[in-house]
Amino acid sequence: MATVTCGSLLPSWGAWPVLDWLLHGLVKMFADLHLHSRFSDGTYTPTELVEQALRQKLAAIALTDHDTVEGCGPTAAACEAAGIEFICGTELTAEQEGHEIHVLGYCLDLQNPRFLEEIGKFQAVRQNRIREIVSRLNQLEVPLGAEAVFALANCRSPGRPHVARALVEAGLCDNLDEAFERFLKKNRPAWVPKFKMSVAAAIELIHQAGGVAVMAHPGLTRADDQIASMVEAGLDGIECHHTKHTPSVVSHYLQVARRFNLLITGGSDCHGMNKGKPLIGTVKVPYDYVPLLKAKAASTYHFAQ
Ligand SMILES: [Zn+2]
Ligand SMILES: [Zn+2]
Repeated sequence: MATVTCGSLLPSWGAWPVLDWLLHGLVKMFADLHLHSRFSDGTYTPTELVEQALRQKLAAIALTDHDTVEGCGPTAAACEAAGIEFICGTELTAEQEGHEIHVLGYCLDLQNPRFLEEIGKFQAVRQNRIREIVSRLNQLEVPLGAEAVFALANCRSPGRPHVARALVEAGLCDNLDEAFERFLKKNRPAWVPKFKMSVAAAIELIHQAGGVAVMAHPGLTRADDQIASMVEAGLDGIECHHTKHTPSVVSHYLQVARRFNLLITGGSDCHGMNKGKPLIGTVKVPYDYVPLLKAKAASTYHFAQ
């Protein structure tokens, strides 16, 4: 007799396990659309990230490093070799009315000259911020050099986690938490405010590079009162599923998505081994979301090349 498995309405072909596996495998495909690599503050190289994606049996992944697309080329190549669909993305740090809001960009044209020029400026801002943080540390008689941080980061989009790691590696702090608590957290003595573009500018920048603009982790951002004006500025989607979203937060943002007719996305926001166990695959969305993202990008942009 046919049985129903895993909450699916598909019958189980108990006598033919291979058919069973194929049928269910084909139907249930998942994507993790929020991942970081070494090209910003993650610990995985593209190859390591894709190995993890294979282990999690993900059908598609998106790389969303902070203010950079530097890792997209190598990750795309690793995905192609592994038979995983790749979506190039980024996570831009923006602000609106005093709220720091992260805007994810998906399906970007990596050749778009204005996009590359603009994110180049944000990367320069990040590098200058590292120099300022280091000079404050030096004033506190913490002997760390900016070059040590840049060497460790080895990417164009360095951030505070790299400073924290450099402090630990130099034996100046016992662990990353101590580095943030003593020096790097907001309002601690080596904290330097970060320059942020406006949310409207981030959305426009993503659109003019052919991308789809999505509000990242709204449950962490807690700026629901800003969503209507972001939609007016052209916001395309909202990240309903995220590691830090409880089930009630997820259902709240699914309602918000419906109310504003926004695409739904989600992902683990995995930064590799930074916080112990890797998060990749712990939050995944149905693969069906991927063609919707691509269709949105295709409907608004024609690649110039
Ligand atoms: Zn974020
Ligand atoms: Zn992120």
